[in-house]
Amino acid sequence: MVEETAGGVIVHGAKQLATAAPISNETYVSLSATFVRRADPRFVLAFSIPTDSPGLKILCREPVSQWAGSYGHPLATRYDEQDAMLFFDHVLVPWNRIFMLYDSAPLLQRLGSEANFRGWGNLCRIHQRMKVMTAVATLIAEAIGVIEYREVAAKLGEMATYTEMWQHAMDGVEHNAYLAENGLMSLGSMSGMNIYFAQTSARMVELLREIAGSGMIMQPSENDLANPEFRPYLDRYMPGRGVDVEYKSRLFRLAHDLAVSSFGMRQEIYEYWHGGDPNRNRINLLRTYDQADITARIKALIAEPLRS
Ligand SMILES: Cc1cc2nc3c(=O)[nH]c(=O)nc-3n(C[C@H](O)[C@H](O)[C@H](O)COP(=O)(O)OP(=O)(O)OC[C@H]3O[C@@H](n4cnc5c(N)ncnc54)[C@H](O)[C@@H]3O)c2cc1C
Repeated sequence: MVEETAGGVIVHGAKQLATAAPISNETYVSLSATFVRRADPRFVLAFSIPTDSPGLKILCREPVSQWAGSYGHPLATRYDEQDAMLFFDHVLVPWNRIFMLYDSAPLLQRLGSEANFRGWGNLCRIHQRMKVMTAVATLIAEAIGVIEYREVAAKLGEMATYTEMWQHAMDGVEHNAYLAENGLMSLGSMSGMNIYFAQTSARMVELLREIAGSGMIMQPSENDLANPEFRPYLDRYMPGRGVDVEYKSRLFRLAHDLAVSSFGMRQEIYEYWHGGDPNRNRINLLRTYDQADITARIKALIAEPLRS
């Protein structure tokens, strides 16, 4: 914040990173929980800003969406969330769009306890992602006839375990919801969930790759399937167990977009980072994690006199 005016504050600087900013009406810009206690209060601010505000520049990354046939990239062609850098060149942020300025305490307190329902959508999104990954891996194991192998079934079971754990955690978050003092419903604590998924997501991608084998890479395209010279070979050598070559190819291309393609890898990086640095989040969680009761009991136990 470089200047206060009658109409609002002038903001000058940059925001790394804003997913979907170029296709949004507005972007919410805020310091992360780690940095809100910055010594210089001019850096302590949060606001929402219309995308077409004068002086706001948006730099987009290279798109990961590609059109490679009608089913080559089933997710990338639909769901590329454009990431962007925002540059603020003396942008006026009106007073009525400012949530926090100079002092972080009121906003932090409210976000932590009274308005945390904004995190619910992300929990639902993650649950769907886990279900899709597990289901695609299961269908692939069936399609290539390996689902009865003990280690393959165990890997699928590991994916199902993570997905079930997430469901249990969401049930807990809902069950612990309460009516806050301001009359709004607040969800129960979800403090460890984003960290858990940041570490679990990569494992699920790894399991999907291990189960699927080289078929993740080597599949005929729709042009290959339409090629009369090649088609007999594809029908003979590239079908699955009880499924034809087209079904198998389309299924594997979906898996490819989850765990191999530019889209899939961008998504994987997103899962790791978008909630902030997982290591930093773990440390923040540890600092607020109440162990007073259990540590007192352990100390009491080890202070007991030795029995002769
Ligand atoms: C695809 C994608 C989408 C995103 N979307 C959004 C979004 O919409 N909105 C948003 O606000 N943010 C978004 N983010 C940004 C995300 O919040 C940051 O990536 C995250 O906070 C980590 O910051 P950084 O990328 O600058 O990494 P850095 O903080 O530079 O970390 C780089 C490395 O250094 C280590 N490190 C950093 N600091 C220390 C330290 N003090 N001591 C020891 N090691 C350290 C880290 O552990 C890491 O290994 C997105 C990120 C990605 C990748």
